[in-house]
Amino acid sequence: MTLNYPTFSLQGRKALVTGASRGIGQALAQGLAHAGADVAVAARNEQDLQTSLTAIRALGRKGVALSLDVTDLAAIRAGVDAACQQLDGLDILINNAGIEQVCPSLDVDEALWDRILDTNLKGAFFCAQAAARIMTENTGGSIVNVCSLTSEVGVPTATPYGSSKSGLLGMTRALATEWARHDIRVNAIAPGYFRTALTEVFYQDDNWQQAMLEKIPQRRFGKLEDLLGAVVFLCADSAAYINGQMLTIDGGYMASI
Ligand code: NDP
Repeated sequence: MTLNYPTFSLQGRKALVTGASRGIGQALAQGLAHAGADVAVAARNEQDLQTSLTAIRALGRKGVALSLDVTDLAAIRAGVDAACQQLDGLDILINNAGIEQVCPSLDVDEALWDRILDTNLKGAFFCAQAAARIMTENTGGSIVNVCSLTSEVGVPTATPYGSSKSGLLGMTRALATEWARHDIRVNAIAPGYFRTALTEVFYQDDNWQQAMLEKIPQRRFGKLEDLLGAVVFLCADSAAYINGQMLTIDGGYMASI
């Protein structure tokens, strides 16, 4: 039997990662570079992107830093075009930029709702649209949206966030079906519990940590490295027929509830 064996290489691919100045986005940018991609990293604060850039270049790949606020539609279009121009193409988009602010739902005001939804959902959609306009003119591409366990389960005091992440999962499925004809695959990852600036407030509480660890079958929180294999796999030819799926990376937590 003659088979085209799967490749997990991203050699020659051009990627854009939003929210790549720290935490999960920074790790994913490095993971893509390690797999062979040239990577544009984006965040609002361009200075904070220097560490990410240095790491990508140390891996022997081209790195580009872009100041981009995903709530600014004109900036998205300009940023995605700049990434494409400076990398000489765009095959991969990681929609990772995201924010959260815990708040009892009775106290959520319009400004908080809009801030979270505009960043996590509307921003991700228009980044995907801008990237797909380029990908449809070329040979297609792969988009990975960074969802969350709250895409599928309810968490108290996280209603705007959970709504944005549930919406992002819905968006993943809709775009996957619509853009398949352009050879653009759209998938998602759902990280479980990872200690970053976004979640630091929870980890300050030892009781919370203890209670969470008891719920996670693997009895540990996620390490940023735990996310890299899944994202490289979803972007590479290894996942050529995987479309519209969300891969949960949570030490077995979702399987246990
Ligand atoms: P961090 O707060 O550590 O990083 C967030 C990144 O997003 C930063 O680079 C930040 O840079 C950027 N960002 C925020 N707002 C915008 C904006 N408007 N435009 C462009 N960039 C922006 O968070 P994490 O690394 O933890 O989270 C990354 C993603 O992973 C988020 O989507 C989050 O919801 C998701 N996630 C995280 C989990 C966790 O346990 N940590 C679990 C599940 C999902 P700057 O402020 O300079 O713009």
